[in-house]
Amino acid sequence: MELLEVLEALNRTHGPSGDEGGVREKIAELARPFADEIITDTLGNLIVHKKGEGPRVMFAAHMDSIGFIVTHIEKEGFLRVGRLGGVVPKEAAYSNLRFKNGVRGVFVPEEKADLGRLRLDQCFIDIGADDEEAAKKLVRVGDTAVYDGPVRVMGDRVTAPYLDDRIACAVLLCALEQIEQPACDLWMVFTVQEEVGLRGAKTAAWWVEPDVGLAVDVTDADDTPGSERSGTAKLGKGAAVKVMDSSVICHPEVVARLEELAGARDIPVQRDILRAGGTDAGAIHTARLGVKTGGISIPCRYIHTPAETADLRDAAACVRLTVAFAQQ
Ligand SMILES: [Zn+2]
Repeated sequence: MELLEVLEALNRTHGPSGDEGGVREKIAELARPFADEIITDTLGNLIVHKKGEGPRVMFAAHMDSIGFIVTHIEKEGFLRVGRLGGVVPKEAAYSNLRFKNGVRGVFVPEEKADLGRLRLDQCFIDIGADDEEAAKKLVRVGDTAVYDGPVRVMGDRVTAPYLDDRIACAVLLCALEQIEQPACDLWMVFTVQEEVGLRGAKTAAWWVEPDVGLAVDVTDADDTPGSERSGTAKLGKGAAVKVMDSSVICHPEVVARLEELAGARDIPVQRDILRAGGTDAGAIHTARLGVKTGGISIPCRYIHTPAETADLRDAAACVRLTVAFAQQ
């Protein structure tokens, strides 16, 4: 599998938190040829099992994305919405949106709203409907929408609305294809509802009962003009080995093991410390009696905006590191 092609395929699917059916179906289809068993649990996590001898190792990438949920349909046909996860209204202003049924819309601030302090209740979605009746033929209260945009290539880099966390799902799928004989009992879990509080990872970790857990997710890059030094990762400097974020302090053995494997195989790596923001690792490491947990991160700029940007060479390094961890 080509990572960019997988990313493009996943970017076309629908999968905001709680409504991940579309993306789950696509990932299951891509994983099937390389899996011994695929399970969907009660919350909707997709659990892909590749049997092997040794400790139970769980990799987790969340398949949900941030998005919007319709709360009101107004007389004039405009929609008001709530947020699924960390949507920031000013970053969403004038973005194109797409509903699960294919209906298109534009996210618009009211004319008098202060863009700098824009609140969600000062914004509406225009779906091209003349009035309430026409709008109700297109959407219902409770329907969900996501940013609608393609994956664009900029040299070695890509920009797309949902690199968080579809690029990590693509990393796991490409790694799965390359792992012939795992040196562990391998569980690759594509989790739900990460963006609303690591909910899927919690039940998945209980189910899988891993000895070792690894969250694969994007991490904030600290390499643009005016960046606030809240993270450590930089685009193009390799896979980021998580040391800490606000949800987890990684187990030192896992950090050491990842760095040792990277050194032995000449995989470019950097350390990832994120002052704010959590990952599935937060839920995994406190499951049951505790799980030795770490993370492999893909540095990403402009997270949670419609223009998330990452480097394909970093993603390729993450694939190699995942394969190395599973095979040794
Ligand atoms: Zn994420």
